[in-house]
Amino acid sequence: MSSNLDRKFAERVEKLENILDYTFKDKSLPITALTHSSFAAEYHKEIKDYEVLEFLGDAVLSLIVSEILIKTFPEAKEGELSQIRSAVISEAYLSRLARILGLNELVLLSKGEIAQKGMERDSLLCDVFESVFGAVYVDSGYDIKPPREIFNKYFKEYLIESIKKGNIPRDYKSILQIKTQRLFGVVPKYNLIHSEGPEHEKTFTMECVVNNVVRTFGTGKSKKEAETEAAKKAFFYLKERYDSNKKKK
Ligand code: MN
Repeated sequence: MSSNLDRKFAERVEKLENILDYTFKDKSLPITALTHSSFAAEYHKEIKDYEVLEFLGDAVLSLIVSEILIKTFPEAKEGELSQIRSAVISEAYLSRLARILGLNELVLLSKGEIAQKGMERDSLLCDVFESVFGAVYVDSGYDIKPPREIFNKYFKEYLIESIKKGNIPRDYKSILQIKTQRLFGVVPKYNLIHSEGPEHEKTFTMECVVNNVVRTFGTGKSKKEAETEAAKKAFFYLKERYDSNKKKK
């Protein structure tokens, strides 16, 4: 290992430790957590990439998030909890948390990946976020407490806020369907209203219709994207209109 790389590694470890407010006993763990396979292949055949830690971190985060959910929403049913959990442990959401920690600036990538701005890809950021929590878990002797403390310190409040405000990525077409079946015994219908623009960059407008109760519109770069937007609007409309009436205050 050249001293140049040694310094590069030591710098990253220090930055990561400062961000997490956690000191690693085994300094090779944070290096592994930040090493993308492209970097391992390009620079150091003997260096490990983050994939195994990512695998472990996925389970660690799932446990930490489950605990927050059952404590915050003690009335929620299993189906609802697993829906929220999978929205949280998703690429879209975890990459957001990774950016908050600044992991995009720490990840070790090959020159080619750097040129293609690999560090800004959601899938990669989600993986690194998982691997960092996996690394803390291993470094603590497979104890959930330290990774849980770190997660809660930075993200617990933010996560609860996101859920309450509906600001987590959700599969709105599915949750709308569950809602309309429960309320009216029907599934939403989606129709193409129009599409415009040249072939490779068309914009679609779709409508979502539920009986004659709801009609919403969404636009997007694909029919699916447009449907999801229309479904989201319909979902919140129904939630507003029907859920609040149920609550006895
Ligand atoms: Mn992953």
